Amino acid sequence: MKNLLLTLCLFTTSKAMAFDTWWHAECTRKAMTGNGFSADARLAAQVSNYITDFHSAVLFGTGIPEKQRVEVFKLKQEMSYEYMHFDAIYSTADIEKNWQSIYVNTIQTLKKYNNNPDVKSGFRLIILFNIIGASLHIVQDFYSHSNWVNTYTLLNKSPIPTWYGEDSTYRKSLYLYTGAYPDGSAKGKKDHSELNKDCSSLPLNKEAVEVAERASIEWVKKIMEATPELPWGELKSYNIQGDAILKNFLVKLDATFLTSSSIVAGHLDGSKPAKFIFSAEKNLVKEQSMALAALNLTIGEYAAYLTLERNIYKIPSPYWAGFRVYFITRDMANGLSHSNKKYVKP
Ligand SMILES: [Zn+2]
Repeated sequence: MKNLLLTLCLFTTSKAMAFDTWWHAECTRKAMTGNGFSADARLAAQVSNYITDFHSAVLFGTGIPEKQRVEVFKLKQEMSYEYMHFDAIYSTADIEKNWQSIYVNTIQTLKKYNNNPDVKSGFRLIILFNIIGASLHIVQDFYSHSNWVNTYTLLNKSPIPTWYGEDSTYRKSLYLYTGAYPDGSAKGKKDHSELNKDCSSLPLNKEAVEVAERASIEWVKKIMEATPELPWGELKSYNIQGDAILKNFLVKLDATFLTSSSIVAGHLDGSKPAKFIFSAEKNLVKEQSMALAALNLTIGEYAAYLTLERNIYKIPSPYWAGFRVYFITRDMANGLSHSNKKYVKP
């Protein structure tokens, strides 16, 4: 418990690796509700999208020593997370390849975990939501971390097309790149900090969010069409309101963890947020102290669950299972690029 709190305090100094949480959550909400998913399904995807970022920040943004990460989060050096943010890819051709890999990997990972006898039955739908949410994370980050939106703004083209909405031959003629991450890691390339549109105080955030929302709706449609064998009806009507235990984890703990840890870390919507969750009067000091109190309560409940004998996988919540028991990000990141390296699934 003490360790968990300490580690989360370190997390608060982490750097952004994504659209800030508010924007990821908004795009994911539209993707899910726009495709006919229930409120519980939407929340499961939003939480999955956030856990992708949370693990990345703990691994790469904080400098938390490995010993402590393993002790507290059971997280070893899990390189796959570095590849989940569409960052540090420097050419149109490599970006094209990345999009192809993300699509193929997402489809394959969905198929792999659907009806897989190795998967505990209670985790099956959760893992599928984890894959949907994590794939949306990468898709959304492209619009924040690349020069796609900058390019179309200069061309004065409105609305800005989504990646798939643009003609593929024309797309190849564009000069596309994403920002170096971490900043300063690639000589002669634009840094992440110069290019990202992660929060509302940054230029082109509104334009990036708008196209990322449409791209998210389109993405979910696309992966549903490619996997007709998946239980999409069951996923769309996902309802845990009658299950007190799952409801406590998803609706109370995981949802609060998403908002409160983001606010404490300054990543709900940057350091000068336009979006507030806890403070009705939009007072940042109040917002942060209320978020910290909510975060402490949530961590307390996670910590209690972690000590239970029946929690054999030692995960904070069943909704983290795809990430912490089945390592979906290894399948999803396979072949993706970052800093001129390709991730190879172990
Ligand atoms: Zn990200």
